[in-house]
Amino acid sequence: MNSEIEKILELEKTARELEPSPELRKVVRDEVVNYTEGFIDNIETTPAFISERTSSNVLENLNVSENPKPLNEVLETLKNGLDISGLNPASGGHLGYIPGGGIYYSSLGDYWADITNRYAGIYFAGPGAVRMENSLIRWAAELVGYPADCAGNLSSGGSMANLSAIVCARDAQKITSEKVKSAVIYVSSQAHHCIFKSIRIAGLSECIIRYLPVDENYRIKPEALETIIEEDLKNNLIPFLVIASAGTTDVGAIDPLESIGTIAKKYSLWYHIDGAYGGFFILTDYGEQALKGIELSDSVVLDPHKGLFLPYGLGMVLVKNRQALMDSQYYKANYMQDALSADEELSPADLSPELTKHFRGLRLWLPLQLLGLKPFRACIEEKIMLARYFYSEVKKMGFEMGPYPDLSVASYRFIPKIGDANAFNKKMMEEIVADGRVFISSTMLEDRFMLRLAVLSFRTHLSTINILLEQLREKTHGC
Ligand SMILES: *Cc1c(COP(=O)(O)O)cnc(C)c1O
Repeated sequence: MNSEIEKILELEKTARELEPSPELRKVVRDEVVNYTEGFIDNIETTPAFISERTSSNVLENLNVSENPKPLNEVLETLKNGLDISGLNPASGGHLGYIPGGGIYYSSLGDYWADITNRYAGIYFAGPGAVRMENSLIRWAAELVGYPADCAGNLSSGGSMANLSAIVCARDAQKITSEKVKSAVIYVSSQAHHCIFKSIRIAGLSECIIRYLPVDENYRIKPEALETIIEEDLKNNLIPFLVIASAGTTDVGAIDPLESIGTIAKKYSLWYHIDGAYGGFFILTDYGEQALKGIELSDSVVLDPHKGLFLPYGLGMVLVKNRQALMDSQYYKANYMQDALSADEELSPADLSPELTKHFRGLRLWLPLQLLGLKPFRACIEEKIMLARYFYSEVKKMGFEMGPYPDLSVASYRFIPKIGDANAFNKKMMEEIVADGRVFISSTMLEDRFMLRLAVLSFRTHLSTINILLEQLREKTHGC
């Protein structure tokens, strides 16, 4: 044998270590599954938050070395450092920010997608995977009342989905560099910060941003929008984009989607709706009413890793005019020429900045298939009812309340007889977080330090809310 062949075979021997034997696969898999099964079995008694100060363990032993480390050592690193401190997003006690999910069948979808590594970028290469993703897009499109020939993309999350939509709006409205400084974007200060980040990333930070006034429930006042547009047109500016929230992060307010849509149409503005938090509430009868007008938008963002309780890693953008999304995100490269046939299905790579991507559809499709929609609808309705129940109970306890929840976020604060209300509520929040059974967060409404309740974890139930109510009762007793 010549030395070149010898060397290749020698390398092959080591390279084959990348494919563990069936026996080894079973050993490692069993260990991982033991841990994750235990994690789920104990989730109801695991704290929602552990402060890093009270837990000495953070991941150690992270260095990468030439030789493998023993399995037990690697697993110890994971067991001892990862799920020990910080927020536990899988916990039903997570009632802060916008809670996350983690439904089980999604993890198996990811597992399947990772093992088979189906390519979901281009129809030619992965017709099954692309068709599955597109069918999910069409399902969501039907939910929000978009036509079947719209386009969309499964992104890593809501921020990326909003970025796609805003870039698409910029291109569809032909906001080229010479127009940027006279182009106007209408949005409320209650919009999620990723909207403002997207505006900057999209090269639109020099646009004129009009912060629309909001009513006492933090919803955009549509009359004001029309007045401001008229004025901007008189001044030869270029109104091109209006952004509404279908569920603001702060208080869960739904902007008047229908009225804004009518005005957007009248003045040919691109109408974008950020439904990352609230979009999937449309699965309930109440939500369908509350989100009326969502179908008037040109683009909409939904976040299955919020409203459909999936583990982190899945957002969704829908664009009504498929050509607009294609024109904005499509690119043709010589080395891709084999894939450029006129396919019956659009390819995700032509509809987003990504080329090679995780086959994200399966983590959504599998749970929808195995569970059906019914438990999702029930779970969302339960969340709305829990937020309302909490609202009325806390109100009865004498708290000052923010707006009545449009969806599943409530804000509230206690005014003590003596002392500073902001300091009192901040301290109360810190104590509740330190206790760890539930995690809550806060926000500022004007200069009021408000506590926030956000119910969106699929594991949050009546007993969870009662734990928080009990703590609030105790901590405000006699104050
Ligand atoms: C969470 C959220 C986002 C951002 O989505 P990510 O999935 O966290 O990137 C955008 N808008 C609203 C209203 C949100 O609640």
